[in-house]
Amino acid sequence: MAELHFLGTGNAFSPPGRMHALALLDGEILIDAPPTVLPQLRRAGVTPSQLKHVLFTHWHADHTFGFPFLMLDREKMGDLDGCDSVLEIHCRPGGKELLTELCDSGFPGSLDEILAEGIRWNNSEEGDLDGTDWSFERFPVIHSPETDPHGYCLTHRDGVRILHCGDSGPCQEIEDRAPESQIVILEMGVPDFVKSPFHHNPSDIMSFSRRHPETRILVTHNYAKSPESRQGFEIPDLPNEILQLNDGDSIVIGEDASISVKKI
Ligand SMILES: [Zn+2]
Ligand SMILES: [Zn+2]
Repeated sequence: MAELHFLGTGNAFSPPGRMHALALLDGEILIDAPPTVLPQLRRAGVTPSQLKHVLFTHWHADHTFGFPFLMLDREKMGDLDGCDSVLEIHCRPGGKELLTELCDSGFPGSLDEILAEGIRWNNSEEGDLDGTDWSFERFPVIHSPETDPHGYCLTHRDGVRILHCGDSGPCQEIEDRAPESQIVILEMGVPDFVKSPFHHNPSDIMSFSRRHPETRILVTHNYAKSPESRQGFEIPDLPNEILQLNDGDSIVIGEDASISVKKI
């Protein structure tokens, strides 16, 4: 029914074996655009021209600095793929100015046309993702306030609901929505010895899991190394029902909200 592809699962520090976190839904809805978004998409065989929507969670560089590269590819290489469609950008007010400034800094003058004509800016807090089977609701989360942090509640037309919580520490807005969501994607940006209200650590993830036993929890934005890397923080020992994602993992969601993991 749906496929959620994790092309990166690391926090801002790109721990060994992990690129910055991003998620790609059904190959056409991108959640966040980290600096290495282009190589991440290429690795999965996805071209930027295939994207219909980009959803931004907040304004930290590990979630946004790839945007000029996405635009450059769509501007200069888009025709090669026979696609010149408009990309819809979903973000908070002020996002258009911030992302335009990034493009002007990165590729001065080169992206003026596509910024003017190739993007539809959408500041709505909810709505349909046109041309897809999904609708969204954006909600505030707890993270560095300067970044205007939010998560997205994504609902499939068949009823399956995914909660993508962006970067956030424990948060009532997430708690309120979790019982209605089959899948909750939580970040785990820091180890247990770091006490930050702006990130989940492994203990926070475990207590969330105990409060929401019916919900499938996927962990990304991981501070720990990948399983095959030798250096870096060890992967925390979490119960099996909590799935710590690795780069390239693809989650296939059935109509009954069953999920299976496909490795690429
Ligand atoms: Zn981050
Ligand atoms: Zn952040």
